Amino acid sequence: MKITQGKINELLSEPGCEHNHKKDQKGKNKSCTQQAQPGAAQGGCAFDGASIALVPITDVAHLVHGPIACSGNSWGSRGSQSSGPMLYKMGFTTDLSENDVIFGGEKRLFRSIVEVAERYNPAAVFVYSTCVTALIGDDMDAVCQSAQKKVGIPVVPVNSPGFIGSKNLGNRVGGESLLEYVVGTAEPEYTTPYDINLIGEYNIAGEMWNVLPLFEKLGIRVLAKITGDARYKEVCYAHRAKLNVMICSKALINMARKMEERYGIPYIEESFYGIDDINRCLRNIAAKLGDEDLKERVEKLIAEETAKLDVTLAPYRDRLKGKRVVLYTGGVKSWSIISAAKDLGIEVVATSTKKSTEEDKARIKELLGKDGMMLEKGSPQELLRVISQTKADMLIAGGRNQYTALKAKIPFLDINQERHHPYAGYEGMVEMARELEEALYSPVWQQVRKPAPWDAATDASLTDASLTDEADGISVSVIDNVSVSSATKSVAGTDGISVSVIDNVSVSSATKSVAREVL
Ligand code: SF4
Repeated sequence: MKITQGKINELLSEPGCEHNHKKDQKGKNKSCTQQAQPGAAQGGCAFDGASIALVPITDVAHLVHGPIACSGNSWGSRGSQSSGPMLYKMGFTTDLSENDVIFGGEKRLFRSIVEVAERYNPAAVFVYSTCVTALIGDDMDAVCQSAQKKVGIPVVPVNSPGFIGSKNLGNRVGGESLLEYVVGTAEPEYTTPYDINLIGEYNIAGEMWNVLPLFEKLGIRVLAKITGDARYKEVCYAHRAKLNVMICSKALINMARKMEERYGIPYIEESFYGIDDINRCLRNIAAKLGDEDLKERVEKLIAEETAKLDVTLAPYRDRLKGKRVVLYTGGVKSWSIISAAKDLGIEVVATSTKKSTEEDKARIKELLGKDGMMLEKGSPQELLRVISQTKADMLIAGGRNQYTALKAKIPFLDINQERHHPYAGYEGMVEMARELEEALYSPVWQQVRKPAPWDAATDASLTDASLTDEADGISVSVIDNVSVSSATKSVAGTDGISVSVIDNVSVSSATKSVAREVL
Protein backbone atom coordinates (compact mmCIF):
# COMPACT_ATOMS: atom_id res chain seq x y z
CA MET A 1 0.00 0.00 0.00
CA LYS A 2 1.54 3.29 -1.11
CA ILE A 3 1.07 6.18 1.24
CA THR A 4 0.16 9.01 -1.10
CA GLN A 5 -1.24 12.44 -0.29
CA GLY A 6 -4.60 11.13 -1.53
CA LYS A 7 -4.43 8.26 0.96
CA ILE A 8 -3.52 10.62 3.80
CA ASN A 9 -6.42 12.93 2.91
CA GLU A 10 -8.75 9.95 2.79
CA LEU A 11 -7.69 8.86 6.27
CA LEU A 12 -7.93 12.38 7.66
CA SER A 13 -11.43 12.88 6.29
CA GLU A 14 -12.65 9.45 7.43
CA PRO A 15 -16.48 9.67 7.23
CA GLY A 16 -16.89 7.43 10.28
CA CYS A 17 -15.37 10.16 12.44
CA GLU A 18 -17.82 12.76 13.79
CA HIS A 19 -15.28 15.49 13.11
CA ASN A 20 -16.11 15.12 9.45
CA HIS A 21 -19.88 15.03 9.67
CA LYS A 22 -20.50 18.69 9.07
CA LYS A 23 -20.03 18.91 5.37
CA ASP A 24 -20.28 22.72 5.35
CA GLN A 25 -16.94 22.67 7.21
CA LYS A 26 -18.37 24.66 10.13
CA GLY A 27 -17.37 23.07 13.38
CA LYS A 28 -15.15 20.63 11.55
CA ASN A 29 -12.04 19.83 13.50
CA LYS A 30 -9.13 21.52 11.81
CA SER A 31 -6.79 18.64 12.57
CA CYS A 32 -8.76 16.54 10.11
CA THR A 33 -8.12 18.79 7.16
CA GLN A 34 -4.79 20.38 7.79
CA GLN A 35 -1.37 19.25 6.82
CA ALA A 36 0.80 18.26 9.74
CA GLN A 37 1.95 21.35 11.62
CA PRO A 38 5.19 21.82 13.53
CA GLY A 39 4.88 19.76 16.68
CA ALA A 40 2.23 17.43 15.23
CA ALA A 41 4.36 14.44 16.18
CA GLN A 42 5.09 15.73 19.67
CA GLY A 43 2.84 13.12 21.25
CA GLY A 44 4.14 10.42 18.89
CA CYS A 45 4.65 10.40 15.11
CA ALA A 46 2.67 8.42 12.53
CA PHE A 47 5.19 5.57 12.73
CA ASP A 48 4.67 5.50 16.48
CA GLY A 49 0.89 5.38 15.94
CA ALA A 50 1.13 2.52 13.45
CA SER A 51 3.30 0.48 15.81
CA ILE A 52 0.93 1.17 18.72
CA ALA A 53 -1.90 -0.27 16.64
CA LEU A 54 -0.05 -3.31 15.31
CA VAL A 55 2.72 -4.35 17.71
CA PRO A 56 0.27 -6.04 20.14
CA ILE A 57 -0.04 -8.85 17.54
CA THR A 58 2.18 -11.10 19.54
CA ASP A 59 3.47 -13.77 17.16
CA VAL A 60 4.59 -11.32 14.49
CA ALA A 61 8.14 -9.94 14.05
CA HIS A 62 7.85 -6.15 13.88
CA LEU A 63 10.77 -4.86 11.80
CA VAL A 64 11.45 -1.13 11.67
CA HIS A 65 13.09 -0.04 8.45
CA GLY A 66 15.00 3.06 9.46
CA PRO A 67 17.60 4.47 11.80
CA ILE A 68 17.85 2.66 15.10
CA ALA A 69 16.53 5.67 17.03
CA CYS A 70 13.05 5.34 15.47
CA SER A 71 12.82 1.82 16.77
CA GLY A 72 13.89 2.83 20.25
CA ASN A 73 11.49 5.76 20.18
CA SER A 74 8.43 3.69 20.88
CA TRP A 75 9.74 0.24 21.67
CA GLY A 76 8.55 -1.16 24.97
CA SER A 77 6.72 2.02 25.98
CA ARG A 78 3.31 0.44 26.07
CA GLY A 79 2.11 -2.22 28.41
CA SER A 80 0.28 -4.52 25.95
CA GLN A 81 0.42 -8.00 27.39
CA SER A 82 0.52 -11.41 25.82
CA SER A 83 -0.84 -14.72 27.03
CA GLY A 84 1.60 -16.60 24.80
CA PRO A 85 4.24 -15.57 22.27
CA MET A 86 6.65 -12.84 23.29
CA LEU A 87 8.13 -12.16 19.87
CA TYR A 88 6.31 -8.81 19.64
CA LYS A 89 8.45 -7.55 22.51
CA MET A 90 11.64 -7.95 20.49
CA GLY A 91 12.83 -4.83 18.73
CA PHE A 92 13.96 -5.47 15.14
CA THR A 93 15.41 -2.70 13.02
CA THR A 94 17.43 -2.43 9.82
CA ASP A 95 19.53 0.19 11.63
CA LEU A 96 20.31 2.25 8.53
CA SER A 97 23.70 3.85 8.22
CA GLU A 98 24.93 6.77 6.15
CA ASN A 99 25.92 4.38 3.34
CA ASP A 100 22.37 3.04 3.12
CA VAL A 101 21.04 6.56 2.91
CA ILE A 102 23.34 7.22 -0.05
CA PHE A 103 23.02 3.90 -1.85
CA GLY A 104 19.52 2.89 -0.72
CA GLY A 105 18.38 0.54 2.02
CA GLU A 106 16.44 -2.02 -0.04
CA LYS A 107 19.07 -4.77 -0.03
CA ARG A 108 19.59 -4.36 3.67
CA LEU A 109 15.85 -4.59 4.23
CA PHE A 110 15.58 -7.76 2.15
CA ARG A 111 18.41 -9.42 4.08
CA SER A 112 16.90 -8.33 7.38
CA ILE A 113 13.49 -9.82 6.55
CA VAL A 114 15.11 -13.11 5.56
CA GLU A 115 17.24 -13.20 8.70
CA VAL A 116 14.35 -12.40 11.03
CA ALA A 117 12.13 -15.00 9.35
CA GLU A 118 14.81 -17.72 9.52
CA ARG A 119 15.99 -17.06 13.05
CA TYR A 120 12.69 -16.38 14.79
CA ASN A 121 10.12 -18.26 12.74
CA PRO A 122 7.36 -15.63 13.14
CA ALA A 123 3.79 -16.01 11.89
CA ALA A 124 4.46 -12.95 9.70
CA VAL A 125 6.87 -10.03 9.41
CA PHE A 126 5.45 -6.49 9.58
CA VAL A 127 7.82 -3.93 8.08
CA TYR A 128 7.44 -0.29 9.13
CA SER A 129 8.79 2.55 7.05
CA THR A 130 10.15 5.63 8.78
CA CYS A 131 10.97 9.17 7.71
CA VAL A 132 14.42 8.30 6.40
CA THR A 133 13.44 5.32 4.28
CA ALA A 134 10.46 7.18 2.83
CA LEU A 135 12.66 10.16 1.96
CA ILE A 136 15.39 8.14 0.28
CA GLY A 137 12.70 6.43 -1.78
CA ASP A 138 13.12 2.76 -0.81
CA ASP A 139 10.40 0.73 -2.50
CA MET A 140 9.31 -1.11 0.59
CA ASP A 141 6.26 -2.72 -1.01
CA ALA A 142 8.38 -4.33 -3.73
CA VAL A 143 10.99 -5.56 -1.24
CA CYS A 144 8.29 -7.04 1.01
CA GLN A 145 6.72 -8.79 -1.95
CA SER A 146 9.92 -10.41 -3.11
CA ALA A 147 11.03 -11.28 0.44
CA GLN A 148 7.64 -12.94 1.02
CA LYS A 149 8.32 -15.27 -1.91
CA LYS A 150 11.68 -16.15 -0.44
CA VAL A 151 10.62 -16.75 3.19
CA GLY A 152 7.17 -18.23 2.54
CA ILE A 153 5.38 -16.27 5.26
CA PRO A 154 3.39 -13.04 4.93
CA VAL A 155 5.54 -9.90 4.85
CA VAL A 156 3.32 -6.88 5.41
CA PRO A 157 4.49 -3.35 4.54
CA VAL A 158 3.25 -0.60 6.84
CA ASN A 159 3.92 2.72 5.16
CA SER A 160 4.02 4.94 8.18
CA PRO A 161 6.80 7.54 7.89
CA GLY A 162 6.64 9.82 10.90
CA PHE A 163 6.52 13.03 8.89
CA ILE A 164 3.05 12.38 7.45
CA GLY A 165 1.43 13.39 10.72
CA SER A 166 0.34 12.49 14.19
CA LYS A 167 0.07 9.28 16.13
CA ASN A 168 -3.67 9.09 15.43
CA LEU A 169 -3.08 9.18 11.70
CA GLY A 170 -0.50 6.42 12.20
CA ASN A 171 -3.12 4.28 13.98
CA ARG A 172 -5.27 4.52 10.87
CA VAL A 173 -2.35 3.76 8.57
CA GLY A 174 -1.78 0.60 10.63
CA GLY A 175 -5.46 -0.28 10.22
CA GLU A 176 -5.20 0.20 6.46
CA SER A 177 -2.32 -2.29 6.27
CA LEU A 178 -4.37 -4.87 8.15
CA LEU A 179 -7.30 -4.30 5.81
CA GLU A 180 -5.20 -4.56 2.69
CA TYR A 181 -2.88 -7.44 3.56
CA VAL A 182 -4.29 -9.41 6.47
CA VAL A 183 -8.07 -9.37 7.04
CA GLY A 184 -9.85 -11.84 4.79
CA THR A 185 -6.78 -13.91 3.90
CA ALA A 186 -7.78 -17.01 5.89
CA GLU A 187 -10.95 -18.74 7.03
CA PRO A 188 -11.78 -19.77 10.60
CA GLU A 189 -12.38 -23.47 11.27
CA TYR A 190 -16.00 -22.70 12.13
CA THR A 191 -18.20 -19.71 12.80
CA THR A 192 -21.03 -19.08 15.27
CA PRO A 193 -23.83 -16.48 15.39
CA TYR A 194 -22.03 -15.02 18.41
CA ASP A 195 -18.69 -14.14 16.83
CA ILE A 196 -17.45 -10.62 17.47
CA ASN A 197 -14.21 -8.71 16.93
CA LEU A 198 -12.77 -6.27 19.44
CA ILE A 199 -11.17 -3.34 17.63
CA GLY A 200 -8.86 -0.82 19.30
CA GLU A 201 -8.36 -2.81 22.51
CA TYR A 202 -4.63 -3.30 23.12
CA ASN A 203 -4.69 -5.34 26.33
CA ILE A 204 -2.76 -2.72 28.29
CA ALA A 205 -1.87 -4.15 31.71
CA GLY A 206 -3.92 -7.22 30.73
CA GLU A 207 -7.25 -5.36 30.76
CA MET A 208 -8.79 -7.57 28.14
CA TRP A 209 -8.40 -10.57 30.42
CA ASN A 210 -10.91 -8.94 32.77
CA VAL A 211 -13.48 -8.88 30.00
CA LEU A 212 -12.95 -12.06 27.99
CA PRO A 213 -14.28 -14.35 30.76
CA LEU A 214 -17.53 -12.35 30.72
CA PHE A 215 -17.96 -12.98 27.01
CA GLU A 216 -17.16 -16.61 27.54
CA LYS A 217 -19.83 -16.93 30.23
CA LEU A 218 -22.35 -15.39 27.87
CA GLY A 219 -21.43 -17.67 24.99
CA ILE A 220 -20.02 -14.81 22.90
CA ARG A 221 -16.88 -15.72 20.96
CA VAL A 222 -14.21 -13.12 20.37
CA LEU A 223 -13.10 -14.15 16.92
CA ALA A 224 -10.35 -11.56 16.48
CA LYS A 225 -8.77 -9.17 18.90
CA ILE A 226 -7.49 -6.18 16.98
CA THR A 227 -4.95 -6.13 18.28
CA GLY A 228 -4.41 -6.78 22.02
CA ASP A 229 -2.93 -10.24 22.68
CA ALA A 230 -3.78 -11.18 19.09
CA ARG A 231 -2.29 -13.88 16.91
CA TYR A 232 -1.73 -13.16 13.25
CA LYS A 233 -4.14 -15.90 12.15
CA GLU A 234 -7.12 -14.53 14.05
CA VAL A 235 -6.78 -11.13 12.36
CA CYS A 236 -6.84 -12.96 9.02
CA TYR A 237 -10.32 -14.30 9.65
CA ALA A 238 -11.77 -11.22 11.33
CA HIS A 239 -14.01 -10.75 8.26
CA ARG A 240 -16.25 -13.60 9.47
CA ALA A 241 -17.41 -11.85 12.64
CA LYS A 242 -21.02 -10.78 13.07
CA LEU A 243 -20.20 -7.56 14.91
CA ASN A 244 -17.24 -5.25 15.40
CA VAL A 245 -17.01 -3.75 18.88
CA MET A 246 -14.80 -0.69 18.79
CA ILE A 247 -13.10 0.04 22.07
CA CYS A 248 -11.23 3.14 23.01
CA SER A 249 -11.79 6.07 20.72
CA LYS A 250 -11.75 6.29 17.00
CA ALA A 251 -8.18 5.09 16.50
CA LEU A 252 -9.23 2.38 14.07
CA ILE A 253 -12.57 3.79 12.96
CA ASN A 254 -11.47 3.44 9.32
CA MET A 255 -11.12 -0.29 9.83
CA ALA A 256 -14.54 -0.68 11.42
CA ARG A 257 -16.25 1.38 8.72
CA LYS A 258 -14.51 -0.33 5.82
CA MET A 259 -15.25 -3.77 7.25
CA GLU A 260 -18.90 -2.75 7.33
CA GLU A 261 -18.67 -1.70 3.69
CA ARG A 262 -16.71 -4.73 2.49
CA TYR A 263 -18.05 -7.53 4.64
CA GLY A 264 -21.33 -6.13 5.97
CA ILE A 265 -20.16 -6.27 9.59
CA PRO A 266 -21.90 -3.55 11.68
CA TYR A 267 -19.91 -1.80 14.39
CA ILE A 268 -20.62 -0.19 17.73
CA GLU A 269 -18.40 1.89 19.98
CA GLU A 270 -18.23 0.83 23.60
CA SER A 271 -16.20 1.23 26.76
CA PHE A 272 -15.14 -1.32 29.38
CA TYR A 273 -14.63 1.26 32.14
CA GLY A 274 -17.20 1.73 34.88
CA ILE A 275 -20.16 -0.41 35.87
CA ASP A 276 -22.70 1.44 33.75
CA ASP A 277 -20.52 1.30 30.68
CA ILE A 278 -19.66 -2.35 30.87
CA ASN A 279 -23.36 -3.12 31.49
CA ARG A 280 -24.32 -1.03 28.48
CA CYS A 281 -21.61 -2.66 26.37
CA LEU A 282 -22.91 -6.17 27.09
CA ARG A 283 -26.52 -5.12 26.49
CA ASN A 284 -25.65 -3.42 23.19
CA ILE A 285 -23.73 -6.44 21.95
CA ALA A 286 -26.67 -8.70 22.78
CA ALA A 287 -29.08 -6.27 21.09
CA LYS A 288 -26.93 -6.07 17.94
CA LEU A 289 -26.54 -9.83 17.74
CA GLY A 290 -30.33 -9.91 18.08
CA ASP A 291 -30.63 -13.01 20.22
CA GLU A 292 -33.33 -13.08 22.91
CA ASP A 293 -31.66 -15.85 24.91
CA LEU A 294 -28.43 -13.92 24.90
CA LYS A 295 -30.22 -10.81 26.14
CA GLU A 296 -31.58 -12.80 29.07
CA ARG A 297 -28.16 -14.24 29.85
CA VAL A 298 -26.70 -10.74 29.78
CA GLU A 299 -29.29 -9.44 32.26
CA LYS A 300 -28.63 -12.38 34.57
CA LEU A 301 -24.87 -11.82 34.43
CA ILE A 302 -25.25 -8.08 35.05
CA ALA A 303 -27.47 -8.72 38.08
CA GLU A 304 -24.95 -11.22 39.52
CA GLU A 305 -21.88 -9.09 38.88
CA THR A 306 -23.37 -5.82 40.14
CA ALA A 307 -24.65 -7.51 43.31
CA LYS A 308 -21.15 -8.88 43.96
CA LEU A 309 -19.60 -5.50 43.22
CA ASP A 310 -21.92 -3.67 45.61
CA VAL A 311 -20.55 -5.76 48.45
CA THR A 312 -16.89 -5.53 47.39
CA LEU A 313 -16.97 -1.81 46.66
CA ALA A 314 -18.91 -0.74 49.78
CA PRO A 315 -15.84 0.00 51.96
CA TYR A 316 -14.12 1.86 49.12
CA ARG A 317 -17.21 3.94 48.37
CA ASP A 318 -17.30 5.09 51.99
CA ARG A 319 -13.72 6.31 51.81
CA LEU A 320 -13.87 7.79 48.32
CA LYS A 321 -17.22 9.56 48.55
CA GLY A 322 -17.01 13.28 47.86
CA LYS A 323 -13.40 13.27 46.66
CA ARG A 324 -12.75 15.62 43.76
CA VAL A 325 -10.56 14.71 40.83
CA VAL A 326 -9.24 16.35 37.69
CA LEU A 327 -9.12 13.96 34.75
CA TYR A 328 -6.71 14.50 31.90
CA THR A 329 -6.79 11.80 29.26
CA GLY A 330 -8.02 11.29 25.72
CA GLY A 331 -10.65 9.62 23.59
CA VAL A 332 -13.23 7.40 25.16
CA LYS A 333 -11.51 7.55 28.56
CA SER A 334 -12.30 11.27 28.82
CA TRP A 335 -15.91 10.31 29.54
CA SER A 336 -15.83 6.65 30.51
CA ILE A 337 -13.58 7.30 33.50
CA ILE A 338 -16.03 9.99 34.67
CA SER A 339 -18.68 7.35 34.71
CA ALA A 340 -16.41 4.91 36.59
CA ALA A 341 -15.51 7.62 39.12
CA LYS A 342 -19.19 8.41 39.67
CA ASP A 343 -19.82 4.76 40.41
CA LEU A 344 -17.41 5.18 43.32
CA GLY A 345 -18.89 8.44 44.58
CA ILE A 346 -16.00 10.52 43.24
CA GLU A 347 -16.71 13.84 41.57
CA VAL A 348 -14.81 14.67 38.39
CA VAL A 349 -14.50 18.46 38.47
CA ALA A 350 -12.65 18.87 35.16
CA THR A 351 -11.73 16.70 32.19
CA SER A 352 -9.84 17.11 28.95
CA THR A 353 -11.51 17.27 25.57
CA LYS A 354 -8.38 17.71 23.49
CA LYS A 355 -8.60 14.38 21.71
CA SER A 356 -12.35 13.91 22.08
CA THR A 357 -14.82 13.58 19.24
CA GLU A 358 -18.05 15.61 19.14
CA GLU A 359 -19.85 12.56 20.48
CA ASP A 360 -17.35 12.23 23.33
CA LYS A 361 -17.87 15.90 24.20
CA ALA A 362 -21.64 15.53 24.30
CA ARG A 363 -21.27 12.61 26.73
CA ILE A 364 -18.76 14.56 28.84
CA LYS A 365 -21.19 17.50 29.13
CA GLU A 366 -23.96 15.22 30.23
CA LEU A 367 -21.80 13.45 32.83
CA LEU A 368 -20.03 16.52 34.22
CA GLY A 369 -23.08 18.68 34.69
CA LYS A 370 -23.06 22.45 34.44
CA ASP A 371 -20.25 23.02 36.95
CA GLY A 372 -17.73 20.67 35.35
CA MET A 373 -14.85 22.15 33.38
CA MET A 374 -13.84 20.93 29.93
CA LEU A 375 -10.16 21.49 29.24
CA GLU A 376 -9.02 22.08 25.70
CA LYS A 377 -5.42 22.60 26.75
CA GLY A 378 -3.44 20.48 29.13
CA SER A 379 -0.18 22.27 29.74
CA PRO A 380 1.25 21.78 33.24
CA GLN A 381 0.50 25.43 34.07
CA GLU A 382 -3.11 25.03 33.02
CA LEU A 383 -3.51 21.82 35.00
CA LEU A 384 -1.98 23.42 38.10
CA ARG A 385 -4.35 26.36 37.73
CA VAL A 386 -7.37 24.09 37.38
CA ILE A 387 -6.30 21.90 40.32
CA SER A 388 -5.94 24.96 42.50
CA GLN A 389 -9.19 26.54 41.30
CA THR A 390 -11.26 23.40 41.76
CA LYS A 391 -9.51 22.34 44.99
CA ALA A 392 -9.10 18.89 43.50
CA ASP A 393 -7.92 16.03 45.70
CA MET A 394 -6.29 14.09 42.89
CA LEU A 395 -5.12 14.10 39.27
CA ILE A 396 -5.93 11.15 37.03
CA ALA A 397 -3.88 11.40 33.85
CA GLY A 398 -1.10 9.94 31.72
CA GLY A 399 2.34 9.19 33.15
CA ARG A 400 3.96 12.40 31.94
CA ASN A 401 1.60 14.45 34.15
CA GLN A 402 2.67 12.84 37.40
CA TYR A 403 5.13 15.65 38.11
CA THR A 404 2.36 18.20 37.74
CA ALA A 405 0.44 16.34 40.43
CA LEU A 406 3.53 16.27 42.63
CA LYS A 407 3.94 20.01 42.21
CA ALA A 408 0.33 20.46 43.26
CA LYS A 409 1.02 18.10 46.20
CA ILE A 410 -1.87 15.85 45.32
CA PRO A 411 -1.96 12.13 44.53
CA PHE A 412 -1.82 10.89 40.97
CA LEU A 413 -3.26 7.87 39.15
CA ASP A 414 -1.82 6.76 35.82
CA ILE A 415 -4.65 6.01 33.42
CA ASN A 416 -2.82 5.86 30.08
CA GLN A 417 -0.80 3.27 28.24
CA GLU A 418 1.98 3.03 30.82
CA ARG A 419 -0.39 1.98 33.60
CA HIS A 420 0.39 -1.20 35.47
CA HIS A 421 -3.10 -2.05 36.70
CA PRO A 422 -6.06 -3.19 34.63
CA TYR A 423 -9.16 -1.05 35.17
CA ALA A 424 -11.51 -2.59 32.61
CA GLY A 425 -14.53 -4.73 33.40
CA TYR A 426 -16.11 -5.43 36.78
CA GLU A 427 -12.87 -6.68 38.27
CA GLY A 428 -11.14 -3.59 36.98
CA MET A 429 -13.57 -1.43 38.96
CA VAL A 430 -12.40 -3.05 42.18
CA GLU A 431 -8.79 -2.58 41.13
CA MET A 432 -9.41 1.07 40.33
CA ALA A 433 -11.19 1.66 43.66
CA ARG A 434 -8.26 0.06 45.49
CA GLU A 435 -5.68 2.13 43.63
CA LEU A 436 -7.63 5.36 44.16
CA GLU A 437 -8.09 4.66 47.83
CA GLU A 438 -4.43 3.78 48.34
CA ALA A 439 -3.25 6.87 46.49
CA LEU A 440 -5.63 9.27 48.23
CA TYR A 441 -5.00 7.98 51.72
CA SER A 442 -1.29 7.41 51.42
CA PRO A 443 0.37 8.94 54.52
CA VAL A 444 3.00 10.48 52.28
CA TRP A 445 0.61 13.31 51.35
CA GLN A 446 0.38 14.52 54.95
CA GLN A 447 4.14 14.75 54.99
CA VAL A 448 4.39 16.39 51.59
CA ARG A 449 1.81 19.03 52.46
CA LYS A 450 3.48 20.04 55.71
CA PRO A 451 5.27 23.31 55.23
CA ALA A 452 9.01 22.87 54.87
CA PRO A 453 10.93 24.06 57.94
CA TRP A 454 12.11 27.17 56.12
CA ASP A 455 8.58 27.89 54.87
CA ALA A 456 7.22 27.39 58.37
CA ALA A 457 9.54 30.08 59.54
CA THR A 458 8.39 32.35 56.75
CA ASP A 459 4.78 31.68 57.57
CA ALA A 460 5.20 32.70 61.18
CA SER A 461 4.02 35.96 62.48
CA LEU A 462 7.17 37.90 61.74
CA THR A 463 6.47 38.40 58.09
CA ASP A 464 8.46 41.55 57.86
CA ALA A 465 11.63 40.06 59.26
CA SER A 466 13.77 39.67 56.23
CA LEU A 467 16.84 41.19 57.72
CA THR A 468 20.16 41.84 56.14
CA ASP A 469 23.37 41.96 57.99
CA GLU A 470 26.52 42.83 56.23
CA ALA A 471 28.82 42.89 59.23
CA ASP A 472 31.25 40.32 57.78
CA GLY A 473 30.92 41.50 54.25
CA ILE A 474 28.65 38.50 53.55
CA SER A 475 25.08 39.34 52.78
CA VAL A 476 22.76 36.98 54.65
CA SER A 477 19.01 37.14 54.80
CA VAL A 478 17.90 36.06 58.20
CA ILE A 479 14.46 34.60 58.58
CA ASP A 480 13.46 35.18 62.10
CA ASN A 481 10.75 33.68 64.21
CA VAL A 482 9.38 35.92 66.83
CA SER A 483 7.87 33.19 68.91
CA VAL A 484 11.29 31.85 69.83
CA SER A 485 11.97 33.14 73.22
CA SER A 486 15.50 31.91 73.66
CA ALA A 487 18.34 34.01 72.46
CA THR A 488 19.99 31.35 70.27
CA LYS A 489 18.63 29.46 67.28
CA SER A 490 19.64 28.13 63.86
CA VAL A 491 18.32 29.44 60.63
CA ALA A 492 19.18 28.91 57.01
CA GLY A 493 20.91 31.71 55.31
CA THR A 494 20.73 32.29 51.59
CA ASP A 495 23.29 30.71 49.31
CA GLY A 496 23.15 27.53 51.38
CA ILE A 497 25.16 29.14 54.19
CA SER A 498 24.06 27.88 57.53
CA VAL A 499 24.25 30.55 60.13
CA SER A 500 23.68 30.51 63.78
CA VAL A 501 21.83 33.56 64.90
CA ILE A 502 22.03 34.97 68.30
CA ASP A 503 18.87 36.80 68.39
CA ASN A 504 18.03 39.60 70.64
CA VAL A 505 14.88 40.57 69.01
CA SER A 506 13.02 43.59 69.86
CA VAL A 507 9.89 42.96 67.96
CA SER A 508 7.74 45.63 69.25
CA SER A 509 9.48 48.27 67.30
CA ALA A 510 9.98 48.46 63.57
CA THR A 511 13.74 48.25 64.05
CA LYS A 512 15.46 44.95 64.78
CA SER A 513 19.02 44.40 65.69
CA VAL A 514 20.59 41.09 64.84
CA ALA A 515 24.00 39.93 65.87
CA ARG A 516 25.25 37.12 63.71
CA GLU A 517 28.02 34.68 63.96
CA VAL A 518 29.06 32.82 60.86
CA LEU A 519 30.03 29.22 61.58
S1 SF4 B 1 9.66 7.94 11.94
FE1 SF4 B 1 10.41 10.03 11.69
S2 SF4 B 1 9.32 11.27 13.24
FE2 SF4 B 1 9.06 9.08 13.78
S3 SF4 B 1 10.73 8.62 15.21
FE3 SF4 B 1 11.52 8.11 13.16
S4 SF4 B 1 12.51 9.98 12.40
FE4 SF4 B 1 11.25 10.57 14.18
